[in-house]
Amino acid sequence: MKINFNSIISKTLTILFVSSVIYILFISVGAHKIFGASYKKLIDERISITIQDISPSLSLNLSFSFTEAIQEIGNKAIENPDVLLVKIESKILESPLVFTKEHKSIDAYKNNGEFISQSVLVDPLTSKPIGKMTLVYSKKTYEQFMNNFYLLFFSATVGLVLSILTLAYFLYKSLKPLTILATSLRSFNPNNPKKLLLHLDSNNEISSIVSSANDMINNLVKYLNDTQELNKEISQKQSHLKEAQRIANVGSWEYDIVNETLLLSDEIYRILGLKRSVVISWQDFIEFISSKDREFVVTVFKDAMKNGSNFDIKFSLSLENNRILDVRTRGKVRKKIDGSARIAAVSMDITQDNINKKMIERLAYYDSLTSLPNRVLLKDRAHKALQNAHRNNQKVAMIFLDLDHFKLINDTLGHTIGDKLLIYVSKLLKMQIRESDTLSRIGGDEFVILLPDIHSQKDVEFIAEKILESLYGQHFIDSHQLYISTSIGIAIYPDTSKDMDELITNADTAMYDAKQDGRNNYKIYQKAMGNHISTQMKVEQDLKNAVNNKKELEVYYQAKVDSNSGQITGAEALVRWNHPERGLVFPDDFIRVAESTGIILELGNWIIEEAISQVKEWNRLGYSNLKIAINLSGRQFQDMKLASFVASMIRKYEISPSQLEFEITETLSMSNVPATLRVLDELKNIGVSIAIDDFGTGYSSLSYLKQFPINTLKIDKSFVMDMIDDEGDKVIVQTIISMAHFLGFKTVAEGVESLEHINLLRNMGCDELQGYYYSKAVTKHAFTLLLET
Ligand code: C2E
Ligand code: CA
Ligand code: CA
Repeated sequence: MKINFNSIISKTLTILFVSSVIYILFISVGAHKIFGASYKKLIDERISITIQDISPSLSLNLSFSFTEAIQEIGNKAIENPDVLLVKIESKILESPLVFTKEHKSIDAYKNNGEFISQSVLVDPLTSKPIGKMTLVYSKKTYEQFMNNFYLLFFSATVGLVLSILTLAYFLYKSLKPLTILATSLRSFNPNNPKKLLLHLDSNNEISSIVSSANDMINNLVKYLNDTQELNKEISQKQSHLKEAQRIANVGSWEYDIVNETLLLSDEIYRILGLKRSVVISWQDFIEFISSKDREFVVTVFKDAMKNGSNFDIKFSLSLENNRILDVRTRGKVRKKIDGSARIAAVSMDITQDNINKKMIERLAYYDSLTSLPNRVLLKDRAHKALQNAHRNNQKVAMIFLDLDHFKLINDTLGHTIGDKLLIYVSKLLKMQIRESDTLSRIGGDEFVILLPDIHSQKDVEFIAEKILESLYGQHFIDSHQLYISTSIGIAIYPDTSKDMDELITNADTAMYDAKQDGRNNYKIYQKAMGNHISTQMKVEQDLKNAVNNKKELEVYYQAKVDSNSGQITGAEALVRWNHPERGLVFPDDFIRVAESTGIILELGNWIIEEAISQVKEWNRLGYSNLKIAINLSGRQFQDMKLASFVASMIRKYEISPSQLEFEITETLSMSNVPATLRVLDELKNIGVSIAIDDFGTGYSSLSYLKQFPINTLKIDKSFVMDMIDDEGDKVIVQTIISMAHFLGFKTVAEGVESLEHINLLRNMGCDELQGYYYSKAVTKHAFTLLLET
């Protein structure tokens, strides 16, 4: 062990050693002197006592016989065992008298170191000196005394040294744990703190220090463990926070107002497109705000700093390479008593959200092909126009316009040409009307013009003629020479139509009338008109018969396929009418009549039962995982018994409700939202799924999406089919898929006709595919064969 001279042990031992040396020196020199001196004094006293003993007898005997007296005194003195020699010299005596025990001379005694004392003999009577007395006193007793003293002193010293050694040993033993403790504390390893724990059997002050140290170490270990856990948790939380910020496009920042320092999270750097190493000052940060927003934002920040208030603002950033980002920033100002003040805020990149929102808004209110207002917006504007007209006693006209033989163009030249023609027509129509009028496309080749402020019927007639003229004749689309014409129906509020629904229906009826009348003309609605529509009446009559005997009606099934596995997951039920004279009639040609006459209720229920019984049959054949989609028309929602009918059919055929999906489209007749919502909720409660059909065509608006309990979005086939050539449609499809997944909906794409479609849609993450590529709608027997292959 290395000796540390500063340690308590060595100090104590040194002090003890030094003090014992001093003690021994002091005892051996000092004591010797003191004892020696005092012993001499004692001897002297004894001698003087002896002399005094002698003197009286001397004075008594002097007169009598001096010599005898001396003789007697000398004899008496020599009797003292310590007196070795007495010599008395006097003028009275002839020669000195010497009394001795050993016959040695005084000089011999002197040499021997015996005590020699000389005193004057005084005559007691005259007090005059009469002689000299020399006394030799033995040093033997002195030596004996001193020997005894040395013996005692030696044993005392030995005892002392022994006790010092014992003390040192105990000191060393007791203080040793402290040394170990010190060494251990010095070598304390925070990574392995347990090793430090000390063990001590004894129970004294030191052990209490050590046990306190152990307690402290235990606490320290606990603290270290806790800190380690905490650090782990903090770093975990930090990385979670980072990840969450990245996923949510949210970054956080903090500005110390007093010290003017700015702290930015990683995500803010990512949002700004800057490297983490770039230092950004508050001024730089402000500079990123686009110039149009900067003043406003700075004012908001200043107000917040002044009032310590919260803020929640949207603004845009203008970054490198002309990049513009929209951000939403929420923050608060924290002021503390110590004078510190800081803005803590989160900023969120909402650029994509804004784009999506705009896109969805557009999808909700505008026709994506022509960018014209859709039905929803038309209805909204018509509603306002009617209110206005009612207040100001004005007239509102609605022009219903349908291109003649458009289907023929589409079927022969393809829908790309058809689409181009529709865009072309929309531009032509736009030129015939005023800014305040609304031109909308409400479906295929159907356009509606709302004239919110006309004075007389003549105004509308004038516009109708202009339109007929502008469209009639030949037009060139992509070097195709096309002949087109149009049929126009007009209804006027308040003349023949009392409200919006009537205005639309009547304009439609007038348009039908115009078509019946040889096309390329316009008709203004009149009450008697309905009676003349013979074709529609005939369709209605035939359809009623068909629904009653059910022999002519048939449900076809079109496969739906999982986009990843390519497996058939189910089918959409599509109704067909085997007309005895017209042959196979497609739903587009009779569903409308069925709806307007109310036949759809009975027809719809028949389709539901037919499809459900077929599900049972496929279950029996072992295809028990199929999900069949059934179309519901808007009118069916007004049937309060729809849900209970569906439930009873599910019970009757013992199928699982999860095997059914109902497809709905937002149509004009579905205007009663609360009632629709109730029916949908009822259906949902049964356990069947709900899909929004033809999504993206404007029939379904975003507000409905949020309100309705929806499972699936079916992307309209027009987008799917066009997306190969049209980048815009591709973006729309991708947006719909992303948005649907974000809202938790499944996506089904319709109109999948090629491998190119499949690859694109699969990459976009579309869940299911439906279209001619896989299969057209086929009879139940043909579909069973499809399942078998
Ligand atoms: P929808 O619900 O959008 O049905 C899809 C239509 O697109 C079907 O026409 C289908 O045959 C067609 N289709 C499917 N894949 C492709 C493809 O790859 N390319 C092309 N060009 N077309 C494809 P369909 O059967 O003529 O039905 C037309 C519309 O009639 C349906 O449109 C639906 O709104 C209505 N409908 C059909 N069956 C029923 C029904 O049972 N009840 C009701 N209420 N409406 C029905
Ligand atoms: Ca459908
Ligand atoms: Ca559809």
